[in-house]
Amino acid sequence: MNLAALHNISPCPIQNVNMPLLEERNIKLDILREDMNHPLIQGNKLRKLKYNILEAHRLGFETILSFGGAFSNHISALAAAGKAFGFNSIGVIRGDELTKQPLNVTLKDAQERGMKLDFVSRSAYRSKNHPEFIKTLKNHWGNFFIVPEGGSNELGVKGVTEMVDERFLDYDFITTAVGSGGTLAGILQGLKNQRKVLGFPALRNADYLKDEIGKWNLFSRKHS
Ligand SMILES: *Cc1c(COP(=O)(O)O)cnc(C)c1O
Repeated sequence: MNLAALHNISPCPIQNVNMPLLEERNIKLDILREDMNHPLIQGNKLRKLKYNILEAHRLGFETILSFGGAFSNHISALAAAGKAFGFNSIGVIRGDELTKQPLNVTLKDAQERGMKLDFVSRSAYRSKNHPEFIKTLKNHWGNFFIVPEGGSNELGVKGVTEMVDERFLDYDFITTAVGSGGTLAGILQGLKNQRKVLGFPALRNADYLKDEIGKWNLFSRKHS
């Protein structure tokens, strides 16, 4: 594997959002263009994969397996990373009904980047962290390093902390969309309570997030 690109992810530009509504209210809104950090992997997904890939490599794994829905940007990023850095990738995808349909763009691209797709029923997917289910995956695919859904684990959070730099201190609030929570946790950890952070959950029932984020994050724990 050639992992040099993982070690030097350059800081991305900040772009101003110019809208009359914001101007009227005297609000400055800028976007950190993390989507520019890599031509294919991109954004928080590259940040969350960084230390997971380095750890898989350190432990001698040649294959990384992860989980996601049919439109998962994380699955897409893992496939791109597999191609860019030279490891095998496996995506365990929620919904076995998908095998009866043509692949959507996310999954088609992932497959074209060399990812092996494993479609599982929704009930099997819910038990994705159970040792029994992992065992059946290993029987089928051989040995692999597991990255959890969304790439959000301690290694993922550590990668996101590196996205935070002194430029963040120019703002009153830092905001992010929230899925599996690793990005929000990483931003909180990187900021060390110096600024307020607003998370906007993309999923309807976001109660699970408090526990998840608290688990990874020293600084959020004080507030929850
Ligand atoms: C994945 C993703 C998120 C959510 O990140 P989590 O770490 O899973 O919470 C937010 N915004 C965009 C654009 C994403 O692709």
